[in-house]
Amino acid sequence: MDTIENKIIKSERVANATLLVGTHAESLKQQALLFAKKLNCLEAAGCNACNACKKIEKNIHPDVIWIESQGESIKIEPLRELQRTLHLKPYEGRWKVVIIDGAQHLTLAASNSLLKILEEPPAQTTFLLLAPHAENLLSTITSRCQRIRLSDAPPPNLDDIENLNSLLSLPVSLEERFQLAIEISKDDETFQKTLEIWTLWYHDLLFYKQGLSPFESPLHQKAALAQTQIRTQSISTLYDKLKTVLETQKTLKHYQVNRQWLAEHVVTQLSLGTSPA
Ligand SMILES: [Zn+2]
Repeated sequence: MDTIENKIIKSERVANATLLVGTHAESLKQQALLFAKKLNCLEAAGCNACNACKKIEKNIHPDVIWIESQGESIKIEPLRELQRTLHLKPYEGRWKVVIIDGAQHLTLAASNSLLKILEEPPAQTTFLLLAPHAENLLSTITSRCQRIRLSDAPPPNLDDIENLNSLLSLPVSLEERFQLAIEISKDDETFQKTLEIWTLWYHDLLFYKQGLSPFESPLHQKAALAQTQIRTQSISTLYDKLKTVLETQKTLKHYQVNRQWLAEHVVTQLSLGTSPA
């Protein structure tokens, strides 16, 4: 559960370096592409249709630099090459995005070269390091990165959840909230499943809030609702709500508590600051 903390970006601004971890290399690449588009899109939204987005997709955008392993390792040469050009302003975009795909393959010399760059991060440049596990990298590097972990867990099945919309939107009136609390706490299994969905939902909202999209999230079809919700809630509010859900999961698992009382508490906390539907 501790790693959940690491999944989240706690600042509103673009970080100097982000470590994206996950065991599906292709998902990591897709996420990196989305991020690069979001930062340099001419429509400012990662539209996939503008010139910048198209160039990034085709890997011909001059400000999106991919560094990949040649054979078994990423040697120091591409890092040296990078160092020579990093002081230059972005050519076309707002941001230079350096994506190191397979960062676990950085040789020690290359790692040290990267570390030197990260110690004095160039302006308007952001680094994305992709790797299966954070432990594959030097801790001096990972400590300079914010960390996002893509989920490897199988997503919950949403088809048999009748009240999904009201779970995600949360009712405005007290009576309806009370009713919802009764519904979700009718048995342990329903309650646990509901908490899993909320975990996923607030995790997704935090992704959206940073301009990333949660890759292959089962809640993907609720993107419009997510956009409405992130407009009215700050990162710290969403983060607090995610924490509330995680704490409720722990409480439910480890303590003898009145389920309905716990459900009322969590519904009330999650309803804070949401605007009427
Ligand atoms: Zn675009």
